[in-house]
Parts: sequence; C-alpha cells; structure tokens
Amino acid sequence: MRQSNLSIHSENILPIIKKWLYSDKDIFIRELVSNATDAMSKLKILQGSDNCKISIDIDKKNKTITIADTGIGMTEEEVEKYIAQIAFSGAEEFVAKYKSATEKDPIIGHFGLGFYSAYMVAKKVEINTLSYLPDAKPVFWSCDGSSSYAIGEGSRSLTGTEVILHLDDQNLEYLEETKLRELLVRYCNFMPFPIELNGKGIGNQSPLWMKSPTECTEKEYLAFYRQLFPLDPEPLFWIHLNVDYPFHLQGILFFPKIHRRFDANESTIRLFCNRVFVSDHCKDILPDYLTILKGAIDSPDIPLNVSRSYLQVDQHVKQLSSHISKKISDRLLSLYKTDREKYISCWPDIEMIVKLGILQDDKFFERIKEALLWKKNDGNWTTVSEYLEKAKEKKVYYASDRSSSLFPLYEEKGIEVLLSHLPIDTPLIQYLEEKLSTSFQRIDGALDEHLLDPSREKTLFDADGKTSAAKMGAFIRTCLDDQTVEVEAKSLASDKIPALLVVDENQRRLRDYMTMTQGKSGFQAKKTFVVNTNHPLIQIIERLEQKNPDLAIQMAKSIYDLSLLSQKELDPADVEKMIARQTQILEKIGSLIS
Ligand code: ADP
Repeated sequence: MRQSNLSIHSENILPIIKKWLYSDKDIFIRELVSNATDAMSKLKILQGSDNCKISIDIDKKNKTITIADTGIGMTEEEVEKYIAQIAFSGAEEFVAKYKSATEKDPIIGHFGLGFYSAYMVAKKVEINTLSYLPDAKPVFWSCDGSSSYAIGEGSRSLTGTEVILHLDDQNLEYLEETKLRELLVRYCNFMPFPIELNGKGIGNQSPLWMKSPTECTEKEYLAFYRQLFPLDPEPLFWIHLNVDYPFHLQGILFFPKIHRRFDANESTIRLFCNRVFVSDHCKDILPDYLTILKGAIDSPDIPLNVSRSYLQVDQHVKQLSSHISKKISDRLLSLYKTDREKYISCWPDIEMIVKLGILQDDKFFERIKEALLWKKNDGNWTTVSEYLEKAKEKKVYYASDRSSSLFPLYEEKGIEVLLSHLPIDTPLIQYLEEKLSTSFQRIDGALDEHLLDPSREKTLFDADGKTSAAKMGAFIRTCLDDQTVEVEAKSLASDKIPALLVVDENQRRLRDYMTMTQGKSGFQAKKTFVVNTNHPLIQIIERLEQKNPDLAIQMAKSIYDLSLLSQKELDPADVEKMIARQTQILEKIGSLIS
C-alpha cells in the first residue's frame, strides 16, 4: 500500500462540499448508483454481459453502507485517473461557482459531483474494484476526506466495484433500511438494472416514457400515473413526448383532474436524466400556464448543473418549453375535433390552462382559438366563430350570471348570450376583442336597443316641458342615497323587470382588472339605474309620490338594493341596512292592509 495526495489545488474542498450540499445530501445514493449503472452499461456494451446487479448493504455494527456493482471495474491507473484527479476537477468547478453564488441564487443540488458526494455523509470512503481487463489485479483505495489517500492491492475476486462508505456520526440515519429504501425508490426506481437493498429488490421498472407511444395501452398510462401520484384521481388524458431533434426528450404529461386543494408548490413534473430522477422542482421547463400538468420528463439535454436563473434563459429550455406547448395545443385540438363530447366534459378542468395559455402566449392562442369554448344561456356550448356565424351583428353578447332576468329578452330576438364566470374572462375578452376585431357586450353593460321598447316610451311633454318619464327619473334620483349613480326612466321591453343597473362596460373591466391585480380596488365604475316605466311597481311609486311619499322613497331605495343585489354590485357592508329597509316596508304594507 502506498500513500499519495489527491491532485487538487484547493485544500479544503471536502468541508465545502459538505456545507453546500448539506440540504440535499440524500443525492449521494443517486450519484453512486448512477456510477454503478454506467459501469455495468459499459460492460454490457463491451461483453454483452447480462449478469448485472447493484447490491447495497447496510452494516449497522460497523456503520457502513456498501454499494457493489458487477460493472466494468477499474485498474489502479484508472482509479488514480478517474477518482483521484478527474472527480476533483468537477469539485473545483463547483467551488468556483460556489464563490460567485449568492444566497438568492442557490446552486441546484445536483452539481454532478458524482463520486465525491459520498463525503456529504461519510468520513471515509473505500473502493474495492477489479477491472474486466484480462490479468487485471484487484485494487483497494481509501481516503478519509483529507487530501491524501492510500492505494494498493485489493481483495475483490469478481469483476466490478464496491464502494464502502463509513458514515460520520451526524449521518447515521442512512443506516436505517426504510430511509435508504425510500431514497432508492425516489431516485432509482426506473434505473435499467436490478437494485437490491439488504437482499430485497427495489422497483427497477422500465419507465413507460421509453416505450413507443403506439405500444402503450390506456391501462399502462393510468397505472404509471398512479405510481407517480398515488393519491390523485385518474387523469383526464395525456400526451406522450418523444423528441429527437433539436434535443432529446421523452416523457408523459398528464392533464390532471383539478382537485380542490390545488397547491401551486406541489411537485408536478418529475425530471429525469437518463432514467435517474433528478428533481421535481423544474417548473421553468414548462410555460407558466402548463405548470398544472403532471408527469415525467426524461432529457439528457437539460443543463442540470447550473443555477436556476441560468436555467430560465437557456436556449434548450426555451425550445423545450415551446415544443411542449405546441404538443399540448395539438393534443387539445385533436381531442376537440375527434371527441367534442369528451372535450366538453373535460372543459372545467382544462379551461384555466387554455385561458391562461391564450393570455400568456400568442402562438398558443393562434393554435387553440378554435377550441376555446363558451357555454350559452340555453345550456349548449359554442365558440366565438360559431357564435358570429349565426349572429346578425358582429357583436358577442355575454353575461356573468348563469341566469338573468334579461335572458328572455335576448331569446325572443334570437340572440344568444355567452356565459362568462371566471375573473380571468375579463382580460381574456379584452384580448379576444383585439385579436378577433369583434366587440363583446355584457348584457347589463349598456342600455342596449334589445332591452328597450320604443313603442311604449312616454314621449309626451307636460306643462313644465318634461315627459312623465323624465319626472319619474328625477324623483327616483332624489330617493337614493348613492350620489354617484345616474337614474333614467325607460320603457323596457320586458314588463317583468322593475329596474336594471347598467354598469359601464369599459369602466367595469378596468375595475375588475384592478381588483384582480391589486386585490380590492376603490375605483367606482359608472352606474346607471334604469327604472322601467312599464313595470307596475314603478307605476305604483309614481302614484305614491304624492299620497305616501315616505313609502315611495323606501320602495325606490328597495328596488335599487335589489338591482344591486341581482347584479352582484351590493356592498356586503350594506346588507344589514338593506334587510332593515325591507323589514320596514313589509311592516308598513302590513299596517296599511290590516
Ligand atoms: P462522473 O460519473 O460524472 O464521470 P464521478 O466522480 O462520479 O463522475 O466518477 C468519475 C469516474 O470514476 C467515472 O467517470 C468512472 O470512470 C469512474 N467510476 C466511478 N464509479 C465507478 C464504478 N462504480 N465503476 C467503475 N468506474 C467508476
């Protein structure tokens, strides 16, 4: 046995490795199992050997973990070259990065330190190896984390390598079989060779993403999903990615059913590099609107050993993200075209993806616009282009309620109304107006001609030169406490609606937008309270104005409250006042009758 020194320029490299990778030290097992896998793959290529197995054994008494493979092994020169020198060049690079890294720009745990990550948990590491080369001699290497190591003849009789970790006292938890098994399942479940821990096998499944999509059955996809996300309900559908150019990528992305406790931080995409689990925090490789998707991506081309901020600007990552986005829109569109029923049934779960995607990515919009669905007031579904094909005017009418007393007026005239129900619909509608050169009109956003009946309009002027409608409007105005609202008395087409609150479309959009971006906004959108001169209640108020002005005022206020309520404009702070007023009116009416 002879002593030698590690070829490094930085004396204290191991303490740095320990300190910096501390939070992610679990990865040592992944690195060592990956090395063992590589060594076996090489031997398989060279000799076609099928005798491949990784055995991991815990020795609690001696506080060691041994990782043994039946791979290619190493000669003494190779140990010197690959372990003592090459490995540390990786570590030096790490130190250089570490110096420039700030707290805010953390280095992703998987820096490719490979073999030396063992020192995150071990105070001493030994290697016993026998090269596959004819007449090779077994080699033993040992290093306690200082810059000197011992190398000499070993005792191994089978081709392959055994790495023995002597755990330091802070890391004895890895001697627990359940802990180590959990890590192996997490990181090494899809590795290509059998792995045993204390004689019992680990996963070792062939990952479904490696199979050709034409050979995968629905059952297999569902089983794979269950394996990755055992607590989730069945996914809606999925896409199988298989890219060779300009980068390599395989993977399966599932559209999940949205469950109530959606957690934006929950890991959704598992990233693998040649079947080795790398990370589940890789949101950057998907555009924001697709982070809701779940599944696995395997790509050797994603630069893993760089900081997160670099990942965002990486060209590969950008291409990858737009490639995935294209695949997703193709999949959605083909589902829409081939199975509209199923698409509609999935709509509540995918609508957010589609709408966010449209707002965040013009290209996505161009591809998906045909499949942007809207429910109509008659319960059926349509798209804007289908709607416009049927419509007499180049205008889309919509409502924010599932039911509205105004619907019958539009139905009578054969005008369809789209239902919008999400806050995101406000910016979406704005976007569609620009892109499609079409205007969208909320049915309570303007006093539209379809709402009026000019034939019954009170146009006669009295002695004061005013119409009775103008007088009615002026009286109601004096009744209301809210000074910001304008009042008009009009002949509405329906006799069933006593009054209607019209909130200016543009100002309401601005208010909704401010509420969405800044929480509650103090901005007041312009409101017009339109009372219906054809409604009996308004006619009663007109008569009461002289006979019982008190009751007339309270009734006017009450009708205003109800309009606010029906159009979701009533301030919750005013509910109590409204209830008190209703009670008073009922009391008054009761006392008048009894
Ligand atoms: P990397 O795996 O990224 O090359 P490592 O530090 O993990 O870096 O390993 C350095 C080299 O040591 C490997 O490239 C390989 O040649 C050799 N090596 C490590 N582990 C083994 C093993 N179990 N069997 C054979 N060779 C190994």
